[in-house]
Amino acid sequence: MEQVRQLMGQVFGFRAFRGIQEAVIQHVLTGGDALVIMPTGGGKSLCYQLPALIRPGLGVVISPLIALMQDQVNSLKQLGVRAEFINSSLSGPEFRYVEERVENGEVDLLYMAPERLLMERNLEWFSRLRLSLFAIDESHCVSQWGHDFRPEYLELHRLGQLFPGVPRLALTATADGPTRQDILERLDLTHGRLFIAGFDRPNIRYHVVAKEGNSFNECLSFIRQHHEGQSGIIYHMTRKDTEETAQKMREKGYNALPYHAGMEQEERRRNQARFLKEEGVVMVATVAFGMGIDKPDVRFVAHLDLPKSVESYYQETGRAGRDGLPADAWLAYGLSDVVRLRQLVEGSEADDTHKRVALHKLEALLGYCETMACRRQVLLNYFENAHLGNCGNCDNCLSPAESWDGTEAARKALSCIYRTGQCFGVAHLVEVLRGEMSEKVVKHAHHQVTTFGIGKEMDVREWRAVFRQLVAAGYAQVDVTGYGGLRLDPSSRPILRGETTLMLRRDVARKQPRRRKTTTTPATKSSASGTLWDALRAKRLELAKEQSIPPYMIFSDVTLREMESRKPTSMREMADVFGIGQVKLERYGAIFLQVVKNHKA
Ligand code: ADP
Ligand code: ZN
Repeated sequence: MEQVRQLMGQVFGFRAFRGIQEAVIQHVLTGGDALVIMPTGGGKSLCYQLPALIRPGLGVVISPLIALMQDQVNSLKQLGVRAEFINSSLSGPEFRYVEERVENGEVDLLYMAPERLLMERNLEWFSRLRLSLFAIDESHCVSQWGHDFRPEYLELHRLGQLFPGVPRLALTATADGPTRQDILERLDLTHGRLFIAGFDRPNIRYHVVAKEGNSFNECLSFIRQHHEGQSGIIYHMTRKDTEETAQKMREKGYNALPYHAGMEQEERRRNQARFLKEEGVVMVATVAFGMGIDKPDVRFVAHLDLPKSVESYYQETGRAGRDGLPADAWLAYGLSDVVRLRQLVEGSEADDTHKRVALHKLEALLGYCETMACRRQVLLNYFENAHLGNCGNCDNCLSPAESWDGTEAARKALSCIYRTGQCFGVAHLVEVLRGEMSEKVVKHAHHQVTTFGIGKEMDVREWRAVFRQLVAAGYAQVDVTGYGGLRLDPSSRPILRGETTLMLRRDVARKQPRRRKTTTTPATKSSASGTLWDALRAKRLELAKEQSIPPYMIFSDVTLREMESRKPTSMREMADVFGIGQVKLERYGAIFLQVVKNHKA
């Protein structure tokens, strides 16, 4: 393994393995099969890239994302790794060129999509080659339990029989039990080893805010305060909202672009490329965006709508801060999200088992949103990682939430649901509680029910927070027909009878957590300000533009930060900087030495 470590330093410029990487690599090097579960940004790719460089023959990487293969291959080429891809974007001559290089043993890693891999012609070609391994990336795509099922992945179970002796490594960030088991069975890997990494992403700070109506302004002020000029992702549920929010962001002076599955492919491709290549782009997207994007310097991920499950949330937020520098995950959450998601699940056509699973997942997510405990602890417990709490890097740890005895309020709210016939939505229920003689109240004679006007002591916002928490906790159920009427769940009886107390979370306009030392100077500031950091970034951008690749493919921010603090004066010292392997040293070492030297002068 010492040699493997050396190779890692030489090629990638990394100093040590992270977590389970070493164990996985050792296992693959001895020819074993495995399923590797690691959080997004955890460092999965090294687990197959290094073995493919060491084992003789061609390493085949199966990836569902044709649009991103080129980026992955470009990154590797920057490191001097002999990587190629085969997909429909190649012209005839390009295709034959890659084929020839593969046959001459000049390629160590070949990326392709599953449907191409399993074409008879390709299988026949592979049978004549020496293969070092198969890496099945995003392997949760094989499972219907996962959130991104792709039927073509199902056929991959044949690989074991077709190519006995070639190790197969499936990788995913999706961790729940049923999906994991499903992947093992469907890929015929039940005999293989299961490697599960710790799921913590300590550099990500989690925030959840209660939303009232549209939370665009809150999101904007968060970005203004913490992430001016930095790149980030804003997630929305609908296509329309992504376009509207992107437009509003642009009006506020941000370099914001929309991304959703309904856009023309060409426009989608262009926006994605800009997000990768330019600095400081904010992508406003549906969940169609993100898989396979391994831009390391995404500084924030904001959710303006609730994701579907804790898994999705963790995967989406995991796209922030892959470089290990501080990053934020920010989520706005409100009653309308709860109502809509409950309707979506309960009203769906799915069979009971699927519904139960979906409902359970939704409950876990709502629990996360409402929790007063350390968010990291809740997240990690969900992934069966024990955590003692008090992480010091989530909103609840930084400014503890207040709780209050909501038993009486809950009783009033629940009886109001009951007295009005269990079919009205929250807006109406709050009017009744607050004793408002609205048209609708009068029409239904609800000024005559016993709960009319018994809740004047609390304002609309406070009542909505009570209802939200009751629905989130399952004491009240949302009707599935679409009008958002509430009815009682049997579990609410102990509260109504006064047999139990209920602590609720107080929604307060939270003060934004104190600002951290920014890790990257906003891209909007020009290099004219004259720091070494600016000079290094300007050089990086210039080199990236020349080659038409994203700046982070030249050097990551972490590498530039180290250069800034170490100020290397020789190639020897430059070689010690994190992220500088042999090939990058040869290509860029002297150029950046000069930048450091000029700056000193
Ligand atoms: P994943 O595919 O699991 O989301 P990646 O393989 O893209 O994660 O790795 C995430 C980031 O961590 C990348 O920027 C990568 O260069 C970096 N990385 C991976 N392994 C190491 C390591 N051993 N030391 C330092 N950085 C690493
Ligand atoms: Zn915490």
